[in-house]
Amino acid sequence: MAWRYALMIDPAASDDTRTDFDSTFSEVDPSAPALTVGELSTQRGDGIFESIGVVDGHAQEVEAHLQRLAHSAEICELPAPHLGQWREAVRRAEAASGAGESVIKLILSRGVEHGPTPTAWVTVAPAADFTEARTSGIRVAVLDRGYSIDLPGRAPWLLLGAKTLSYAVNMAAIREAKRRGADDAVFVSSDGFVLEAPTASLVIRRGDTFVTPAPNGGILHGTTQLSLFEHLADRGFATAYETLPVSALYEADAAWLLSSVRLAAPITAVDDRPLAVDADLTASFNAYLLSPRD
Ligand code: PLP
Repeated sequence: MAWRYALMIDPAASDDTRTDFDSTFSEVDPSAPALTVGELSTQRGDGIFESIGVVDGHAQEVEAHLQRLAHSAEICELPAPHLGQWREAVRRAEAASGAGESVIKLILSRGVEHGPTPTAWVTVAPAADFTEARTSGIRVAVLDRGYSIDLPGRAPWLLLGAKTLSYAVNMAAIREAKRRGADDAVFVSSDGFVLEAPTASLVIRRGDTFVTPAPNGGILHGTTQLSLFEHLADRGFATAYETLPVSALYEADAAWLLSSVRLAAPITAVDDRPLAVDADLTASFNAYLLSPRD
């Protein structure tokens, strides 16, 4: 991957009244080492992140991503990010992104072991080409996530609902899905409710209603799903958050995985059961998701 830009950030306190954060930023060579060996993000995955889609130099839904970064920080008991400082860092990354589709990553780590402050940085890299997933669609395998739908409230230390850097399990789930002949996974709770994919939200269509699993079940609230629901409401469709049994996915009229960089990928099969794809509707979703969104 050819990173285009990297910016190290000296994180400001959330109540810092400065408006000029220039002295807190340092551009670094994106292809050179930049972290120390005691960094807790690399040793323990102890930190949080955001991936923001960028289309032709426009970073999408920046405020929604910053709000989720702050929410993840709260869950993980990291210092609250100064949103003005991060907004300015995103603006600099956006300016370096170039034409086409790219991805800006925001990373806030607990810092260096025994060190005084968190470590924070922003990068920009070209996005992979997701044309095929957006048009031909993806097959998914349903995988057990191993905990019940009501666990998040009982076990907040599992940090469910935060976008932490600990994605090894999510990556293992995608490998398992591929072993099963699918392209991606959909997690299901141990009591049989659909949750999300390892790197995406799930939306199903039931008649003229679009439904997504309620985010209180320990899943990440997707910025792309939120944005698509606004768009669907503008088009006169009904949208809903529900606790969905896995049968709702098998029986859906259509379903998509949604995320900031791949955007809307229609699901063509769930565990070898075919699902209908509405190519025109999917194309309209991706046209909307590729248009400048704030
Ligand atoms: N759920 C998980 C676990 C994710 O990792 C992601 C995105 O990376 C999403 C959902 C979708 O979130 P967004 O639409 O904000 O990219």
